[in-house]
Amino acid sequence: MRIAVCVKQVPDTNEVRIDPVKGTLIREGVPSILNPDDANALEAALQLKDKDKKTEVIVITMGPPQAEDMLRECLAMGADEAYLLSDRAFGGADTCATSTTIAAGIKKLGKIDLVLAGRQAIDGDTAQVGPQVAFRLGLPVVTYVEDIKIKDKGKKAEVKRMLEDGYEVIEIQLPCLLTAVKELNEPRYMTIAGIMNAYKKDITVWDHKAVKLDPADCGLNASPTQVFRSFTPPPKGKGEMLSGTAQKMAATLVDRLKEKHAI
Ligand SMILES: Cc1cc2nc3c(=O)[nH]c(=O)nc-3n(C[C@H](O)[C@H](O)[C@H](O)COP(=O)(O)OP(=O)(O)OC[C@H]3O[C@@H](n4cnc5c(N)ncnc54)[C@H](O)[C@@H]3O)c2cc1C
Repeated sequence: MRIAVCVKQVPDTNEVRIDPVKGTLIREGVPSILNPDDANALEAALQLKDKDKKTEVIVITMGPPQAEDMLRECLAMGADEAYLLSDRAFGGADTCATSTTIAAGIKKLGKIDLVLAGRQAIDGDTAQVGPQVAFRLGLPVVTYVEDIKIKDKGKKAEVKRMLEDGYEVIEIQLPCLLTAVKELNEPRYMTIAGIMNAYKKDITVWDHKAVKLDPADCGLNASPTQVFRSFTPPPKGKGEMLSGTAQKMAATLVDRLKEKHAI
């Protein structure tokens, strides 16, 4: 089985700040990490490889040259191969253009049985890229996957899809694309041997020509959405602590809610 995992390098959002004038993320000096849901997607692929040693796990990302560090981390966790789609022509991509480029990269990988992605990236947060890649590859997709069982000698998968108040069990034909949620598993740590091996491996870098994309079809040129404005919402006012007996606090709470016309 050949599995492609879409991974994205994201700023560690606990430390992200927004430039108040430009309205853009201040990325300088902010540490980058492997997007958390993508670590779950990779772990799921590695668990399938643990069960069947013939399974190949390939990680692929679109990003700047420094995304190589994240790809080495994925190799150190146990991925077999890593691909970086990097080109000035890919810059300024919205989700539409991002998925075009990633899908072109996956097509170039040849026969793939399963594509895994995270549910969403913690910086862009749209959760659009996984389903869009599936659409561009003509693959069926299940989102919010919290369990994967491969059946019928790799022809089908039975997946558990997380809902707000329960779950669905879905049987899906392979090849397909699944998006992972954190409930899927606990990502493994890199091992010392894995880290040493990761630095012995080559990371393949592909530009627009390598994946047969015209510059007009990628990056900003092919991005129909534009960020109009981004801002940090003003902090909420200080909360009010109620005290007294439960009855007194409940009565005060009801008064406050009435004052605000919430009830
Ligand atoms: C007009 C515009 C310009 C933009 N310009 C830039 C820019 O210059 N630089 C920039 O960094 N961002 C830019 N963005 C943001 C960029 O579009 C998104 O970060 C990107 O398309 C992914 O969307 P998302 O973060 O919402 O991912 P989601 O859809 O939330 O991600 C879901 C999953 O898809 C996969 N995935 C997402 N992105 C990638 C990727 N790059 N490689 C591999 N797998 C991936 C991962 O598995 C991820 O968990 C721009 C957005 C807009 C609208």
